[in-house]
Amino acid sequence: MNDERASFWGYFQPAWRGLLIGLATLVVVLVLWQLNYFVQARLALTNQYFVSRPTSEKVVIVAIDEKTIAELGLQTTWSRAIYADLVQQLLGAGVRVIGFDILFDQPREGDDAFIGALQTAREARVPIVLPISGQNWFTSYEGTLEFKSQLHAYDEIQRAASHVGYINAFPDPDGVIRRAMLMGQVGDESQISFSVATYLASLRISPNLYGQVITREGQQVALPNITLQVDEQGFWQQNYYGAPTQSFPILSLVDVLNGDFEAGQFQDKMVLVGLVEATGLVDSYTVPTSRSGELMSGVEIQAHTIETLLSAQPLTQQSRLSQALTIVLLALGCGVLLAYLRWYWMIAAIVGIGYGLIVASSLIFDVGLVVVNLLHPFMVLVLVLFFSIGAEITREVARRQATETLLQSIVNISRQGLTIERIAPLIAETVRKLTRSPIGEIWVADETRQLYRAEAWGGFLHTPQLIDKLMEKRRTYQEGEVWLIPVMWQSQPIAAFVVQQTPTLRFNGGIQRLEQFALRLAPTIDSALLYIQTQNQAHQLRGILAESPSGIFVLDSDLNVARANEAIVEWLQIELHESVGKPIQDVFVASKLENSIWQQFHEHLQAGEPFRQEIKIGERTYQWDAVQLTQSSYWVITLSDVSDLAELNHLKTRMIRMASHDLKNPLGRVLGYTDLLLDMVTEGELPAEEATRYLERIVKSADEMNNIITEILSLEQLRSGKIPREPLSMLNVLQNILDRYATDAKEKRQSFFVDVAEQLPMVNGNFNQLVQAVSNVVGNAIKYTPEEGRIHIRMFITEAQSIRLEVTDTGYGMPKEALAKLFTDFYRVRTQATAHISGTGLGLSLVKSVVVAHEGKIWVESEEGVGSTFTIELPALPSGS
Ligand code: ADP
Repeated sequence: MNDERASFWGYFQPAWRGLLIGLATLVVVLVLWQLNYFVQARLALTNQYFVSRPTSEKVVIVAIDEKTIAELGLQTTWSRAIYADLVQQLLGAGVRVIGFDILFDQPREGDDAFIGALQTAREARVPIVLPISGQNWFTSYEGTLEFKSQLHAYDEIQRAASHVGYINAFPDPDGVIRRAMLMGQVGDESQISFSVATYLASLRISPNLYGQVITREGQQVALPNITLQVDEQGFWQQNYYGAPTQSFPILSLVDVLNGDFEAGQFQDKMVLVGLVEATGLVDSYTVPTSRSGELMSGVEIQAHTIETLLSAQPLTQQSRLSQALTIVLLALGCGVLLAYLRWYWMIAAIVGIGYGLIVASSLIFDVGLVVVNLLHPFMVLVLVLFFSIGAEITREVARRQATETLLQSIVNISRQGLTIERIAPLIAETVRKLTRSPIGEIWVADETRQLYRAEAWGGFLHTPQLIDKLMEKRRTYQEGEVWLIPVMWQSQPIAAFVVQQTPTLRFNGGIQRLEQFALRLAPTIDSALLYIQTQNQAHQLRGILAESPSGIFVLDSDLNVARANEAIVEWLQIELHESVGKPIQDVFVASKLENSIWQQFHEHLQAGEPFRQEIKIGERTYQWDAVQLTQSSYWVITLSDVSDLAELNHLKTRMIRMASHDLKNPLGRVLGYTDLLLDMVTEGELPAEEATRYLERIVKSADEMNNIITEILSLEQLRSGKIPREPLSMLNVLQNILDRYATDAKEKRQSFFVDVAEQLPMVNGNFNQLVQAVSNVVGNAIKYTPEEGRIHIRMFITEAQSIRLEVTDTGYGMPKEALAKLFTDFYRVRTQATAHISGTGLGLSLVKSVVVAHEGKIWVESEEGVGSTFTIELPALPSGS
């Protein structure tokens, strides 16, 4: 995977990375160099060294050219008398040497004249050099080039000439002639090249002295005035002084014959005679100075070779050691240099260095005549550039991939919802990938914006103090091997990455990438923190709503229900999901509250004032309390169950009414009789009988008031608290009151019967309250039965295991319509028959409350004028308990 390669480069400092690239380059180039690949390219590069230079002006060429051929016809048809004339002319002009690049291998017409001219030359001590054309060359066991056979001037001519030499040209593999022959055995006159022969001839060294003037030591061949460096095949590197036909004076042969040349032009010159630019004749070659493809004739090449010898300026090849050194130094140097540059600077640097190499090597050639190998240094430059850009691209790809990873991570993280617990591991994973840190931590702010360690990998870094410092500095910082990168939001660190230093971090832009990541991550983390806060608040709000003892509606400004709690939903008998989001009016309709309630409610809402309103739902009483929030214009509406309060209130009102009405009569009587008694005492007459009567009436009235007060208090007590209960016998309860009521009944001359079943089971109850309840019912039976009536009390156990107490009387009874309300507070039946009987209307309420508190039942059957039966049923305890 690319990531791996990226990491490979990421682990090196630029210098090491550069050295590595340099090393790879030099290995490749050294191998190519050693294998001698790309010879042609290497040679071609050396052509640039050959520039026009001034010559010694000692060489002149007499050309068999177009003009000569035009006038004299083809050379092969000439009489050799022409050459005789030429020699005569030249001798006359004072030449130093005449060299013929023309093969006289067959006798021809005019040979006598020519031979004669040659002899004249010899007498005039002007050497004549003739060519030999070597054939079928081979390399001798010493490694030098030798010919199997040769083509030379036929004997008579050969003998007439003083010097001979091989004329062969040997092109390099690219067809260009750069090297010149030295040839064969040193000191052997038949083994010398034409150019060397001509050179020696100009020094007036005769062939039989060759053995003394030419010495060879290894690759060095010493000639008079010049030492040549020869290669394995006996070639040495000549120079070229300019383009073809431009370095030496070239005179047309016909012009020379006609004497058409300047006086002194040949004086002491070495004259070479040969074909130059002669159509159809093939003695022409490519040379380094053939810039636009023009060829150089063989005789001209000889002229350049001789000029090299004359000027003692042979070329030398750059030594192999220095070539190798160049390659090594260049590869390593450039490798390291490029590792610090961006790609465009790399290219600029390589072009610059390449140009510098050309300039330097040209200089070396100019000054030291050393032919520097440019190919392999160029190869180094190209390869180093190639490798460096490759590495740069790889690193760039890795960088992009890292950025891609980063962006992908952000997307993933924001997809993960907004809980820190879920995003922290993803952040850690990304940071780990971006840094390759083996150990690290992710710190995130909590609700109070304090950072805590949310995630860690590879161990712990002991960071708390570092984090404190980070909170102070609020920017990326490094302490020892640990890096801290904050995630900033509104100038506050809301998270931090803590990682150990890695090469990726230092050299591969890891820190910048982490900072970039932090920058992009900040909004996500901030949202997550806000989300947590909101969640907590929402949670609290839900809790408050759910636990509230009141029902709550929150209405938005359009009077839609924004929130509702369980209590309100239950009380209004609506569904939660049907109310939230709905207009409050719809909720009212669904709740089946009376329309008038909604009307009032709506009016209040419209008024925009806080309001309180009491409503009844079924048996119970509730109270709205509504207030509009000033900031949001939302309404908060509570509904409280005030039934108990309402009842109490009602009770209190009735009690006050009672106190003012029912207590008034007895109290009036007490006051009246007391006044009478007082009057009687003041008047001094107080008959005992009358006083007793008055006092009895006072006591009775006070008793009446006491009853009223006791009953009110009992009822209130009963309703305002729980009562302790224990297993007890109903027989005991009954017995507790029988004596008293038997007496009352007797007073009214009523017959009073009691039937109690044997062995009744116990009940779980409160003795005093049950006594009060039973005495109320029995008391009522006596009270609402006229004199001489009949009271019958029965107590037994029913099949359903309840204790049943029936109190039957033959009293006034009650109208049917009165029965429904009989057990409500303060209710009294008003009939003519009972109008004279005083009471509170609380007795039966009290009885009912007691019975209900004992999980029992009470009911009544009654017929007006016939009598009533009150029945109480209480659950019996299982026998034995
Ligand atoms: P009080 O007796 O103080 O008026 P109660 O609550 O005890 O109040 O009784 C309520 C009413 O029920 C009485 O006013 C009376 O008219 C009627 N009542 C109660 N007991 C009987 C009874 N045994 N026979 C006829 N009427 C009765």
